[in-house]
Amino acid sequence: MIDFNNTQIAFAGKSNKGLKRAHWLFRTIASPTIVAIGNFFAHNALKLHIPVAWIVKPTLYRQFVGGETIEDCIPAVRELEKFNVKAILDYSVEGGKAEADFEAVLKETLRTIDHAAGDPNVPISVFKPTAFAPSHIFERASAGQDLNEEELAGVESFRKRVNILCEHAAKKDVPIMIDAEDVHYQAIIDRVTLEMMEQYNQKKAIVFNTYQMYRTDRLEVLKKDFELAKKKEFFLGAKFVRGAYMERERRRAEKMGYPSPIHPDKPSTDRDYNAALTFSIANIDRISIFNGTHNEKSCHHLMELMQKAGLAKDDPRIWTSQLYGMSDHISFNMADAGYNIVKYMPYGPVKSVLPYLLRRAEENTSIAGQTGRELSLIKTELKRRKQDRIEDRG
Ligand SMILES: Cc1cc2nc3c(=O)[nH]c(=O)nc-3n(C[C@H](O)[C@H](O)[C@H](O)COP(=O)(O)OP(=O)(O)OC[C@H]3O[C@@H](n4cnc5c(N)ncnc54)[C@H](O)[C@@H]3O)c2cc1C
Repeated sequence: MIDFNNTQIAFAGKSNKGLKRAHWLFRTIASPTIVAIGNFFAHNALKLHIPVAWIVKPTLYRQFVGGETIEDCIPAVRELEKFNVKAILDYSVEGGKAEADFEAVLKETLRTIDHAAGDPNVPISVFKPTAFAPSHIFERASAGQDLNEEELAGVESFRKRVNILCEHAAKKDVPIMIDAEDVHYQAIIDRVTLEMMEQYNQKKAIVFNTYQMYRTDRLEVLKKDFELAKKKEFFLGAKFVRGAYMERERRRAEKMGYPSPIHPDKPSTDRDYNAALTFSIANIDRISIFNGTHNEKSCHHLMELMQKAGLAKDDPRIWTSQLYGMSDHISFNMADAGYNIVKYMPYGPVKSVLPYLLRRAEENTSIAGQTGRELSLIKTELKRRKQDRIEDRG
């Protein structure tokens, strides 16, 4: 089994200066107080139109974002390529409200598909569905209530935009991931995505839905979708993540008085995540897997399943992915061993990617969790390099 503690491979792409910068950043965001102050400052600065780029760009942005444009990301993509790590360019603009915003994101996402079609190190594309309609449309349509004319038109525009993207991805033979969002937006996204899979996944999985395994219902939904795929003879594209919005899902459920849709504890989420991988490998002839996680045990679980099933490490139906700037020890060690590894690389103007960056900062605000792991690995590598230099001189 792969040793994720091999820091020499994990950080082969990082200079000493880059490592020290990452060390400083992860140490800073490990402090809940600093993150809370930063969050407060960022939200108010945006509202008051106070510039934030001067502080965000050399810190969080530099660690977690590829650049402002596709072209800006290219040096980072080429750097990853040297280590057999691929990239997905993720235009991370959130929270648009007007038709012009949705059309602009559509145009840019089409450009990412075109770019992927011409760059072998960018094998997959992605989009965030809520970038294509106002949030109340997702909420109303997902609640299954009767829709008025404006809402029906909103759903239809959303469906049309998703269709344009999936059709283009199919034409260019570039798989496309559809991100998962808040539970109260998701039903309409699932419905449209299944429709797209039925249409474009006739020969292989081009369109992928995202299953947030922190939800109590997703394992059953995966199995139901698989039955549908079997019956209607299409391939199921399944991107698995644990889920990014746990706190606000729980808060909303409590506030509105419905049972929380999220598992009661972490072991239940982990159990369902790994069960989804087991189920998908058992049905690999019909399900393509995108393992989106920073969890070492889940990655080991997937590798073991693949080995037992006699599947090649680079089976084109199986991908593992981490976010750019996070868990390089998993990405680089798995890529070095020959697995299909791809980094989710967000890009966009500072103001637009700020919500994404604040989520990353919050996610890393736990010394016991992800940050502790990142920090200790970076420290080990800095120490190892220092030792090497001493030996070289000696
Ligand atoms: C490539 C990629 C794509 C992504 N796309 C999406 C997406 O489309 N939609 C989305 O929502 N997220 C997405 N994410 C973010 C992802 O959900 C978080 O990075 C992920 O939740 C962190 O979990 P982990 O699997 O890395 O591992 P871990 O660090 O082992 O797990 C942490 C996660 O476990 C869950 N958890 C923690 N504590 C509890 C608890 N007490 N009870 C129940 N569950 C708990 C939460 O989901 C938490 O985030 C993506 C991540 C990656 C790497």
